[in-house]
Amino acid sequence: MNTEVGTRRSWIKTALLAAFLVASLSASVFAVRHAPEPIVDWLLETDIRSQAQLWQKRVLMQLDDDAGSFQSQSLSVDEKQRLSRIPDVADYFRISFIGMDGTVFWSSHAESNGQMDHPPTEASHAAGELSLNHLHFHPEEIEDLARHALNYDEVQDRTVYEIYAPVVRNSTRIGAIKFYSDVTLLHETFLQSISDWLFIAACVVLFLMTLAIGLIVYTSRKQLKNLQERAREEREMMQRQIRLAREVKLLGELNEWLQSSRSLTELFDMVARFMKHILPESEGSLYVYSNSRDVLDGSASWNGGSHHEHIHPEACWGLRRGRSYQFGQSEVDFACEHTEPNDGRPYFCFPILALGETVGLMHLKKHKDATSDAFDESRRLAQMCAEQISMAIANVRMRDQLEDRSIRDPLTGLFNRRHMLDSMRKLIARADANASHLHLVYIDVDHFKKFNDNHGHDAGDMVLRAVGDLLIKNCDGDEVPCRMGGEEFMLLLPDLPQPELKDRIESLRRDVAAISVRYGEKALPKITISSGIASYPDHGRMPQDLLRVADEALYKAKDNGRNQVVVAQVEKPGNDASKNASPQTPPHGLAAE
Ligand code: GH3
Ligand code: MG
Ligand code: MG
Repeated sequence: MNTEVGTRRSWIKTALLAAFLVASLSASVFAVRHAPEPIVDWLLETDIRSQAQLWQKRVLMQLDDDAGSFQSQSLSVDEKQRLSRIPDVADYFRISFIGMDGTVFWSSHAESNGQMDHPPTEASHAAGELSLNHLHFHPEEIEDLARHALNYDEVQDRTVYEIYAPVVRNSTRIGAIKFYSDVTLLHETFLQSISDWLFIAACVVLFLMTLAIGLIVYTSRKQLKNLQERAREEREMMQRQIRLAREVKLLGELNEWLQSSRSLTELFDMVARFMKHILPESEGSLYVYSNSRDVLDGSASWNGGSHHEHIHPEACWGLRRGRSYQFGQSEVDFACEHTEPNDGRPYFCFPILALGETVGLMHLKKHKDATSDAFDESRRLAQMCAEQISMAIANVRMRDQLEDRSIRDPLTGLFNRRHMLDSMRKLIARADANASHLHLVYIDVDHFKKFNDNHGHDAGDMVLRAVGDLLIKNCDGDEVPCRMGGEEFMLLLPDLPQPELKDRIESLRRDVAAISVRYGEKALPKITISSGIASYPDHGRMPQDLLRVADEALYKAKDNGRNQVVVAQVEKPGNDASKNASPQTPPHGLAAE
């Protein structure tokens, strides 16, 4: 049953009960005013009958031989005297003895003596039952009225009962005694007391009915309230389910997008765009630990939120306590330093954990247009979002690491040969598009076999690492330092003007020669490098051609005595490509120092 129907039913029930109450009230008033008359008559008659039977016996007791008196229809003087006193002590103003022939052979009313009277002839009367007649007498017709009824109205008729009490002996009626009783006063007394009793009864009934109706109204109200409460709970449950379904859908979408992001930058962009829709009740920002892990870098913010460039881990209570922190819930709250200046709005700080390690922080502050309840309710979803984001960050990082491993040389950290080839193709395409150059610098450590033989492979590795570090430091932007294998290296230098190129590699050669590496207690001897340089597009358009030319230039440098730089000569029409490499001064086609 829905609440609307329930409410309507409850009101109809209440209205019906109220109508019933009013009807009962009217019936009670009517009953108190009009109903007593027949009841009074009935009660009066019952009373008169029992009194009359009693008085019949008393009257007959005044006779010495009642059966004989009725047979003979005569009374002695004593008997008459005794009988004449009865109206003074009884409620009867007239008593008459009637024989079987209907003659009144004695009456307290002198005029009735000798008169004919005919008692009822019904079988019931013959069998001994009293017979009553309800009459109205003028006050003057009643003997000694003033003695019985004080303050009576002289004009008002009196209510009188004429009672025939049959005298039966041996189951045979031998006569009757007739009584006249003035019941005006008794009638009124009965009427009044019955009215009073009816009034009290009506009050009690009305009270009980009111109580019952109140109880019914109360219980139906309670039922309705329960019904409304249940409907409200069902509505809330439905809303919760709808919200849950929406959250699951949004989280699924967020997860799908985050998983497809290829870099952290792309991931942060997606987070910012998604979080605005998923949690519209909060302004947010995302911080991720820097590589050095001493600070967190502000990575993204959304929905009106802002982030600092860096924050210290100590500046956040969430990070310090290692669990989510809610500001604005307790009476005593401490605001995180990174939220300063704090405007008092509640906020959450969720540490972002991935594979057991804290990778960052998601900060959510209540949006100025959102209610506090809506913001509080968003906590569970926010927590789930933080978990999704942390997983995605871990994934991207892991992918980066794997990718990095696949393109880097593990000893030196330089790019490997495969990556060098990929980069060369890309840089060639770019040089084509920009009509610029790409230079290849082939580097080989001189007499490294001997170095290894003299100082051991580990010492050789340390030197190679030191050369690698120097090459990394030497390159910026799009320049690609690689280890080709063994003690051979390659630099890809795009967009470098030709005059600077030679100076830069010369400077690099000098820097390598100055590297000092300590191995255990001793300092290892210095090493030198030889370099061969080829350029795109001057020395070829294909990577293998360029590599071959650079290699040939390097060979020339070695051939010329090592520890020098050779720039390959530009091929002239008719010249053999293998003779293109030349030292710096070209008497024999090679440029060398
Ligand atoms: P050149 O001046 O002509 O280049 O002489 P070289 O001895 O450097 O050239 P060669 O090709 O004969 O020897 C290369 C040596 O490099 C052989 C090997 O002992 C050493 N080498 C190659 N890879 C590694 C490495 O990963 N670690 C170390 N320590 N040595 C390596
Ligand atoms: Mg070599
Ligand atoms: Mg070598």
